Amino acid sequence: MADPAATTGSPDGVPVPAGLTVLSGPSGVGKSTVVQAIRRNCPHVWLSVSVTTRQPRPGEVPGREYFFVGEREFEEMAASGQLLEWARFAGNYYGTPREPVAQRLEAGRPGLLEVDVVGARQVRLAVPDALLVFLAPPTWEELVRRLTGRETEPPDVIEQRLEAARAELRAESEFDITLVNTSVKDVCAQLVALMTAQPADQPAE
Ligand code: 5GP
Repeated sequence: MADPAATTGSPDGVPVPAGLTVLSGPSGVGKSTVVQAIRRNCPHVWLSVSVTTRQPRPGEVPGREYFFVGEREFEEMAASGQLLEWARFAGNYYGTPREPVAQRLEAGRPGLLEVDVVGARQVRLAVPDALLVFLAPPTWEELVRRLTGRETEPPDVIEQRLEAARAELRAESEFDITLVNTSVKDVCAQLVALMTAQPADQPAE
C-alpha cells in the first residue's frame, strides 16, 4: 500500500495517492505519438486508456488507444462519476476512467495520462500531487504544419483544432514542467525519467 501521508483528496473526498503524471499540450503537438512510442518501447509504463465518442482512426484498436463509446454511454459514465476527468474536444467527448487510475495509484505505482488542457486542469483539482507535463511544439508554424498535414480530419475539424491549440498554448504556465517536442525519442526518455523519479522511493514498476 502507498504511504497514507502521500495521499491527496479528490473533490469528492476520495483519497488518491500520488504517482500520477499527466501529459498534455495542444492538439497536434505529438502527445499521442509520444504515448505510442512509450507503449511500444516502455511496456513497464502504465498508460491509462481513455474513453471517447470519436470514431476510431485507421490502425486504432478498441481498448488500446481508446475505448470507443456512443454519446449516451459516455454521458452516463460522466454523470455516474466513473470518469476522473472529461472534456469535449472538437465535437467529441474524451474522458479518463476513474477506477483503473485509482487502483493503480492505491497500489503505489506510477501511471501516465494523456489528456487535453481542460482535462489536465481537472486532474490538478482531483489529484493535486499529479505532475503536470506540458508538451510544447518547437514553433507555432510547426504545430500548424502538423495540424493541417493530418489528412484524417476534415477542414472544419482542423480549424477547430487550431483554435483550441491557440488557447491551449496560453495554458503552459499552469503546468509543472514543459518538454519541447523536438524529438519523440528525447521526450519519451525525459518523460520516463520524470515518472520513474516520482515518487523517488518507489520503483517504476
Ligand atoms: P485525438 O482525437 O487526436 O486522439 O485526441 C484529441 C485530444 O483529446 C488530444 O488533445 C488528446 O490529448 C485529448 N484526449 C485524449 N484522451 C483524453 C481524455 O481522456 N481526457 C481529456 N480531457 N482529453 C483527452
